[in-house]
Amino acid sequence: ADGAELEALQHADVARLLPVPAAESDKYRRGVVGVAAGSDRYPGAAVLAVAGALRGGAGAVRYVGAAGDAVIARYPETLVSDTGPAKAGRVQAWAVGPGAGEDAATVAEVVAAEVPVLIDADGLRLADRAAVRARTAPTLLTPHAGEAAALLGVSRAEVEAGRLTAVRELAEAYGATVLLKGSTTLVADPGGGAPVRVNATGTPWLATAGSGDVLSGVAGSLLAAGLSARDAGSVGAYLHGLAGRLAARGAPVRAHQVAEAVGQAWRDVVRG
Ligand code: AMP
Ligand code: MG
Repeated sequence: ADGAELEALQHADVARLLPVPAAESDKYRRGVVGVAAGSDRYPGAAVLAVAGALRGGAGAVRYVGAAGDAVIARYPETLVSDTGPAKAGRVQAWAVGPGAGEDAATVAEVVAAEVPVLIDADGLRLADRAAVRARTAPTLLTPHAGEAAALLGVSRAEVEAGRLTAVRELAEAYGATVLLKGSTTLVADPGGGAPVRVNATGTPWLATAGSGDVLSGVAGSLLAAGLSARDAGSVGAYLHGLAGRLAARGAPVRAHQVAEAVGQAWRDVVRG
């Protein structure tokens, strides 16, 4: 890849993009992020996505889904709605999909929303491609290599062997910004004009269950705070990777600790 094909954010770039509340800000101006995640089978994914969303800079987190009791027990700050996404009230951006199981109706409601949307995990499998393409608000898809392979109809090995090609193809196929996870993270916009953003702040200790669910929450929160899909994805990956390093410090870490370290990662970025 030549120099123009890839670009990496530095601390200073990220510091400029972080959504720091203005003196006159309130929680609504900071943004409300909706999290539509979890199911009876996978309630933990909802808790982890909310954990990330609470640290990504939005002013409030609204949760819809089957895991409301687990979410509220862990995070009393969460606004839990007992409706589907369409009737949940004010939301500036949605993160949908982690642990969603087979809840295609919820995914379809989020995809139909006229606000920015992040789609991850089960949501990627359940979302209708034409409906995603028809969206006019920003859209961010966050597959790992296996999920990207399923969406492209190729093997995981093919994605691993050509990650830059895969992320660009997916962005074209869905008309959306795509964040391809892995040992490095690639963020591509459709159209092919802009360089692909690469993030390498992470650590292999992030290869742990629930890690991606935390990223969905963080990046969804950044979307709600007003960042573009490209910036929310790349700043989210930057903070998440740094948080993983800070939380792990060379030893096994669990996803929840990664979420808890996002504040420290944010401080380190601001300090430069
Ligand atoms: P998921 O597979 O959805 O749980 O997401 C895993 C998260 O951990 C993503 O943010 C990946 O980029 C990150 N991750 C997984 N493996 C590695 C690795 N070997 N090095 C750095 N980050 C990783
Ligand atoms: Mg995942």
